Amino acid sequence: MTGIERGGWDSCDYCRRGQVVIQQTELRFRRVTDRGVIQCQVSVPVGYCDQCGFRHVDAAADAAIEAAARRAYEELGAK
Ligand SMILES: [Zn+2]
Repeated sequence: MTGIERGGWDSCDYCRRGQVVIQQTELRFRRVTDRGVIQCQVSVPVGYCDQCGFRHVDAAADAAIEAAARRAYEELGAK
């Protein structure tokens, strides 16, 4: 089975056997910038493989993470 694209994952990209289950997940991360350290928390859908536990983050979740980081960076500049 190839060529199935629907913005998600039918099977795991890593082990190719597991089913990927999407869960809304609170991600916390720190990033060092030229204005200092930013701490972010963002809720994004993350796909977890039920076999190997591999985490799948799609482009939309990636964009949400970047947007949160940018917001926190702007706030640092406003101080
Ligand atoms: Zn897997």
